[in-house]
Amino acid sequence: MKTIGILTSGGDAPGMNAAIRAVVRSAIYYDCKVYGINRGYKGLLEEDLIEMDLSSVGDIIHRGGTILKSSRCEEFKTEEGRLKGVKILKKYKIDYLVVIGGDGSFNGAQKLSELGFPAIGIPGTIDNDLAYTDYTIGFDTAMNTIIEAIGKIRDTSSSHERVNIIEVMGRYCGDLALYSGLAGGAETIIVPEVNIEVEEICNKLNATKKRGKRHSIIVLAEGVGNAQDLGKEIVNQTGADLRITVLGHVQRGGSPSAFDRILASKMGVRAVELLLDGKAARVVGVKDNKIIDMEINKALSMKKEFDKDTHEMVKILSR
Ligand code: ADP
Repeated sequence: MKTIGILTSGGDAPGMNAAIRAVVRSAIYYDCKVYGINRGYKGLLEEDLIEMDLSSVGDIIHRGGTILKSSRCEEFKTEEGRLKGVKILKKYKIDYLVVIGGDGSFNGAQKLSELGFPAIGIPGTIDNDLAYTDYTIGFDTAMNTIIEAIGKIRDTSSSHERVNIIEVMGRYCGDLALYSGLAGGAETIIVPEVNIEVEEICNKLNATKKRGKRHSIIVLAEGVGNAQDLGKEIVNQTGADLRITVLGHVQRGGSPSAFDRILASKMGVRAVELLLDGKAARVVGVKDNKIIDMEINKALSMKKEFDKDTHEMVKILSR
């Protein structure tokens, strides 16, 4: 009988629980024993492990966050820390490790594989900042959270004839801003991947004002810079009545969307099948609606391409 360890690491994302459920239930289906490791690599080094069974993952598919908790762990970035981790994994007779997280967590999984310990990564991050996969678990839910917020802000923006800047997450990736801005009908979408001058934003505001449109939504990706500074410049140049909303951690929570639950379930099962097939140091993803897997090293070396065409298209629609 093989034994699989599973942990969630780095920034949490809605749908991580659905992935844990899929890994645990499929592993047990294939006659494996499963250990849940609490609080990511930190919990591993603190030997915070618990054996999981079918009911450990009951009633969680619809829950945001992660029942295994998540954390960041500096010690795991050192070889000494990782060797300690491998020793603990071996003590519990764990044969394989499934890591659910973002690129940082994947680096940890890669380094473990280099030490001869087989690990597989499942992409769990709302940022959608991994180049090898079309979607990461949590992105769709976060996008839906943002468009709900945009809709509410739009109501009051329209009543008071204001300009509203909405700052959204995504680190250095503009996907959350782009697609939620498109779906939410934002007038301007500002992302790290495309340079835009404040003057251009103000010219647009002035032009639409002339047409009689007095409210405007600007979606700003957090990776671009400070919303307050941008707001001040816009007020200076246009005299607009402007408000700023930083959506913050509300974007990281909530019940996962159907899309994220399905994606997480499929990816979880694939991860277990890969390990039992003797394949490790790989990550699971989705490309053109098909579940794929790839070497971690290759996946991490790929550069994310921003969807410039859609960003251009928004300019045509948002007038
Ligand atoms: P995310 O996985 O969401 O990108 P982080 O970048 O914070 O989040 O990474 C999560 C954890 O993964 C870190 O706290 C650390 O324990 C581990 N990690 C990150 N980078 C490395 C690395 N180069 N080598 C080993 N472990 C790493």
